[in-house]
Amino acid sequence: MFSCVGYAATAADASLGPIALDRRDPGPEDVQIDIMYCGVCHSDLHQARNEWHNTIFPCVPGHEIVGRVTRVGPSVTRFRAGELVGVGCMVDSCRECSSCRAGFEQYCEVGFVGTYNGEDRQGRGITFGGYSRAIVVDQAFVLKVPEKLDPAAVAPLLCAGITTYSPLRHWKVGPGQRVGIVGLGGLGHMGVKFARAFGAEVVLFTTSASKVADGLRLGAHEVVLSKDPEAMAKERGRFDFILDAVAADHDINAYLDLLRRDGTLVQVGAPENPLPVSVFSLLMKRRNFSGSLIGGIPETQEMLDFCGEHGITADIEMIRMDEIETAYARMLRSDVKYRFVIDMATMPETA
Ligand code: NAP
Ligand code: ZN
Ligand code: ZN
Repeated sequence: MFSCVGYAATAADASLGPIALDRRDPGPEDVQIDIMYCGVCHSDLHQARNEWHNTIFPCVPGHEIVGRVTRVGPSVTRFRAGELVGVGCMVDSCRECSSCRAGFEQYCEVGFVGTYNGEDRQGRGITFGGYSRAIVVDQAFVLKVPEKLDPAAVAPLLCAGITTYSPLRHWKVGPGQRVGIVGLGGLGHMGVKFARAFGAEVVLFTTSASKVADGLRLGAHEVVLSKDPEAMAKERGRFDFILDAVAADHDINAYLDLLRRDGTLVQVGAPENPLPVSVFSLLMKRRNFSGSLIGGIPETQEMLDFCGEHGITADIEMIRMDEIETAYARMLRSDVKYRFVIDMATMPETA
């Protein structure tokens, strides 16, 4: 066991602050990582505030982790000290069910172990995430990070990246398709970049007039202000695929109506409350409404390699650890451009 400092929420209504954590020494299959950067996902905020009603306190969020390997267990073959690595939303799963065997650990039939707020499968307690100086993770859940990319801007790929890459790949988004991305936050801006890289005609839907120019710069061919009813009406029935990355309550039927016959809307945003769906929006054009959860470990590695080849990273705003509450408040106002990343060198030395 070794001690390290993290930043935790101790209750849904408490500000995050420093906490002393015990991390296990690396077991045979484990990799110990010095965390350099950790992205700030809206899921961190949902969990810290217990908006999904399953948070175990104290909660140390953070599942967009990039750092360097400092120690490895004796059976570790894939990593060595000094290597640049990443950890995303999962640190374990059953590894035996059909989903795990197919590389879809996120859909593990007994449930994957989350990087934070997850119950360790070996009885070692509740997991603590990347808002900390170090983490120890089984090598099977550690990713290789291309050295040529900016490591701080890679961190958000570990969740926002894979969560948008995976459904765009699964539904085979590509040339000849008109694709909508809803919400220009952490996930949405990666969705725009990937949909463009895959060759689709990309339309961004945003509630923020201030993000139009950025939407075009990030790769959208067109930007529609979703609060403008006339602009929305012009888009009805024109889309093959829409990815909805909105974190709050909104009218999902307004987007279902934009799909063509047999078009698909995939929900990745996870608002606290249910989103009412009008069945008429679905049955009139045999439309599909689906969801998608992050991505498996093999696909996450594929995504990182793709980003390495194509020079794709997140657009980030670096923050100090003690600025996390301000970052959360700005995220709630949709004031994100387009992912906050914590510089872990700013973590206090002691709790
Ligand atoms: P984020 O950076 O806060 O971005 C969310 C964006 O949604 C905002 O920037 C805003 O974009 C738009 N938005 C916010 N409030 C809205 C409202 N009332 N109506 C319409 N649009 C609104 O959040 P994120 O980190 O990208 O996460 C987005 C959601 O995905 C969260 O719920 C998160 O928990 C979830 N998530 C799911 C998965 C998964 O596996 N499925 C993985 C990670 C995260 P505009 O300003 O452009 O309108
Ligand atoms: Zn996330
Ligand atoms: Zn499994």
